[in-house]
Amino acid sequence: MTTLVHAALTFRRTVRSSYGFAVAAVLALVVLLGVFEGPLSALRAEHALVGGAWVAVFGARLASRLRGPRLRPGAIAWIDLELGALLLVAAHAVVQVGGGLASELYPVIFVLVAFLASFSRAPMGAALVGVALVLEVGVHLVAEGRQDWRELALHGAFLVCFGVMSMLFTRVEIARVRERSRRELDDEKEKLKTESRMFRLVAAPSAEGQRDEDRLVRSSVEELHHQVFHVLQLLHRTLDLHTCVLLMRSDDDERLRIVELVTDGDQIASGPFSTGEGAVGAVIKRQLTMNLQNLKPGYKGLCYYDGPALVRAFIGVPIVESGVVRGVLCADRIDDRPFTEREELALEGALAQVLRALQNERVFVQLERTKREQTVLHRASTKLGAALDEDAVVEAGLEAAQEIAPHDLAVVTYYDADDRRHRVRRALGAGAEELEGLTFRDNTSLTAMAVKNRHYLPYRGDFDARQQVVFTKRHNPKGMRSLLILPLVVREDAIGTLTLAAERTAAFNDAVRPTLQVLGNQLAVALSNAHAVKRLEEMATTDGLTGCLNKRAFHEELDRKLRSAARFGRKLSLIVTDIDHFKSVNDTYGHAVGDVVIRELGAILRRMKRETDIVARFGGEEFCVLCEETDTEGAILLAERVREEISKIVFETELGKLQVKASLGVATYPDHASTPAELFDITDKALYVAKQNGRNQVVTAGVKPGKPGKPSKPSKPPQAAAR
Ligand code: GH3
Ligand code: MG
Ligand code: MG
Repeated sequence: MTTLVHAALTFRRTVRSSYGFAVAAVLALVVLLGVFEGPLSALRAEHALVGGAWVAVFGARLASRLRGPRLRPGAIAWIDLELGALLLVAAHAVVQVGGGLASELYPVIFVLVAFLASFSRAPMGAALVGVALVLEVGVHLVAEGRQDWRELALHGAFLVCFGVMSMLFTRVEIARVRERSRRELDDEKEKLKTESRMFRLVAAPSAEGQRDEDRLVRSSVEELHHQVFHVLQLLHRTLDLHTCVLLMRSDDDERLRIVELVTDGDQIASGPFSTGEGAVGAVIKRQLTMNLQNLKPGYKGLCYYDGPALVRAFIGVPIVESGVVRGVLCADRIDDRPFTEREELALEGALAQVLRALQNERVFVQLERTKREQTVLHRASTKLGAALDEDAVVEAGLEAAQEIAPHDLAVVTYYDADDRRHRVRRALGAGAEELEGLTFRDNTSLTAMAVKNRHYLPYRGDFDARQQVVFTKRHNPKGMRSLLILPLVVREDAIGTLTLAAERTAAFNDAVRPTLQVLGNQLAVALSNAHAVKRLEEMATTDGLTGCLNKRAFHEELDRKLRSAARFGRKLSLIVTDIDHFKSVNDTYGHAVGDVVIRELGAILRRMKRETDIVARFGGEEFCVLCEETDTEGAILLAERVREEISKIVFETELGKLQVKASLGVATYPDHASTPAELFDITDKALYVAKQNGRNQVVTAGVKPGKPGKPSKPSKPPQAAAR
């Protein structure tokens, strides 16, 4: 039954999605039967019926196609194929009405194939050419019963040629248009860059990806153009000028470019111009205003004209900033009326206004930039402050660094001053996997230098992997052209570095480095705080002498592990150890030796326990071992091994060799106790029994005094071997 329903549903779906093909196939059959043969005037009712049905189906499929964006790409291609097939069949029907393959209407088929091939995707185009070929063969052989194989081959070849050629032409044209718009976009970007440098709005090319920066600079450039144009227009009108033009040059490009221009002529050259040329060149060279009159008609000394100029009077005023000529304001007239002193003053006044506008925009851009940097830094410092552990601090720092200066590799290293070793704490980006966990000596690498000198490196922010070593020679970053290693300084010491590298050049220039340095300082303080918190936590939970957990932390663990054992129905065993006659050790060998013994016992226990077991010093020379998923037997085994291990150790002291023994008590949840307090008490009692029974032994909970848990040689108070 389900199979039947499934089949019915599939059938319905197929019919709904491809009835256009069915109609095209039926129509093709009708064409092959030659139903449309006969003169145009003989249009019959059934022709109109078939035509109407075709229009309805084609219209419905076209409507589906126009909903394109909501369809899957596969479905779109499918409908395109259907529409193409319907059109081809309809074209053959029309050709048949018009007199068949030999009629003047036939070339319609070629045109249609060319049209379909150019507007479909390559596979669909090929499929439609195939459909056209099949129809051609059918009409040729069946509908018209021709036997002319040459004609058929010729038609077939033409169909394929039309299809392939229009497909190729369209693809080439699309590629050409794409390339042109890409180039236009690049030119536009380059122009913005040049102009922003010309106006000195940016210190260096802005980093890719910094869209905010681009937008900011773009709006400033537009504003400047607007203001300059306004000034030039005013001058043009009031001083009765032929041309008034502002030419400027950028730092890195020694040539002059037209910034804005107002002119009555149409012979203006587009530039850029060489700075040494003609009258304008003289203004730049001398840094003085040039006022020329009585120029010969056809004067060639004005670079901004294409060919000889008609002008008779010219004045050029230099734009000087910090002793450097940044450009020239030029004005000229066609009539031979020299520029008066007052006009010269007016031009200089206008220029001062242009300069002020320039400076204002620079300040504006700088303020906006600072505002953005502060927002980023503020966000970063909030995140760094909220980060509770080292990992979170490092992540927050790296995220902020990416926001300030997009880069391809970021690494945080730590420096251990005692060990004189550097360690990569976190690496992110290109080649990070190789660096993760890397440690290296205090070598001659830039990282080591930056830590030593507490100063960022390299000086200019450029990186050449052949000459500079960031960490070690073997692990030098590849393909990077910019580098910045910031020491993480806390008070007077560098605790590590924040290293950033980028594939593009000038990624860490003067515009971003100061902000990154502030971030570095914040990161250093946050890291040092996270370290301090971690140390405090350790101090609160561990015992200073042995590094084992302390009593408070042990009780917490005991509670937690017992709850978990109860929930999962598992056993939990506790071992309590106590050194025999320890008072005598202290009395005979001194407290310092006693401490050594305690530390050694702690080390033995930590060495012998399993990963999941917990060792705590309970005060004095008493230790506890909490063993998860361990029954009494297992715990006794461990306790015996510990007892033997302790008795084997020989301590070399000033008074000769010293050996100690220990007694141990063992109990298990839920066999001997059901609460943490009970478990602890009963284990302690077992230890007490071990002491009573002669010491140097392991006793399990429930064993009465006088019955040694495991017979062993009773321990005696240690005696000094030699005095
Ligand atoms: P028993 O065999 O019955 O255990 O005898 P004992 O002498 O070992 O007695 P007990 O376990 O009560 O001894 C505890 C002694 O441990 C008391 C104190 O002098 C010594 N002690 C406690 N804390 C420290 C420490 O931090 N360092 C040193 N060196 N000795 C400590
Ligand atoms: Mg003791
Ligand atoms: Mg004790």
